[in-house]
Amino acid sequence: MMSESETATRPAASTGASPPPEATVAPKGLHFDHVSMVFEDGTHAVDDVTLEVKPAEFVTIVGPSGCGKSTLLRIAAGLEQNSTGRVTLPRESLGYVFQDATLLPWRTVRKNIELLAELKGMRKAQRDGLVDATIELVGLRGFEDKYPKQLSGGMRMRASLARSLVLDPQVFLFDEPFGALDEITRERLNAELLRLFQHQEFAALFITHSIAEAVFLSTKVVVMSARPGHVVSVFDVPFPYPRTHDLRYEADFAALSGEVSHALRGSHQ
Ligand code: ADP
Repeated sequence: MMSESETATRPAASTGASPPPEATVAPKGLHFDHVSMVFEDGTHAVDDVTLEVKPAEFVTIVGPSGCGKSTLLRIAAGLEQNSTGRVTLPRESLGYVFQDATLLPWRTVRKNIELLAELKGMRKAQRDGLVDATIELVGLRGFEDKYPKQLSGGMRMRASLARSLVLDPQVFLFDEPFGALDEITRERLNAELLRLFQHQEFAALFITHSIAEAVFLSTKVVVMSARPGHVVSVFDVPFPYPRTHDLRYEADFAALSGEVSHALRGSHQ
């Protein structure tokens, strides 16, 4: 098995004093170091991907369908084991949101949001305060006692976000969370996600098929090639946060979106 690791071993910073001989520092961000993935049936999904997402960075991956984007996220989440390379992240402090909100239908919104904190063994008194604050943060106040089937798609996605946010993750993985929503709801949730990102300062790795969504959200957009997926271009997004809806209509935004689109077209060949 070539892959690692839950926590990274790093040399201690030089302070003049001798560092403890085996000091380990839990990584705060996410780092793929020459990661490849070949499935058992021989499908070569991901090829030599090196990619870093630091705390308070929002990195979005765009690429053709089947180029290994979800596989990368699944490797980070510990749901797949990479064939070669090394992955470092604070696995104890990981949140993920998928396209399907995957809420438990028999639990209320509040009980769904509480779920991960409960599974982690957090005491009820502590949990209650956190859950209340998170409900407020994602705008679900007033909907706590509803069941998932009573919510709109956008509300369900808010509840799914909240469920992971409760644990205040250092690294947050998003696999096309807004892909199934209508455009207005999607834009609204983009704005809300950015507000949460600024508030919590996690390291975000986001997958989308929408170039506008990628540029609007991110500090960096990564374009992947067709399978086996590797990184073909990385674009720094210079727009400061907070970003408002109007950014989408600015010339610089259109120009950068055009460049990403051009790279994406090239990546399909
Ligand atoms: P993307 O998210 O970019 O659309 P995926 O990461 O889902 O792509 O899949 C990458 C490639 O790996 C696809 O060709 C897919 O069919 C294949 N794949 C995904 N999971 C498995 C698996 N468990 N076994 C074999 N092939 C797989």
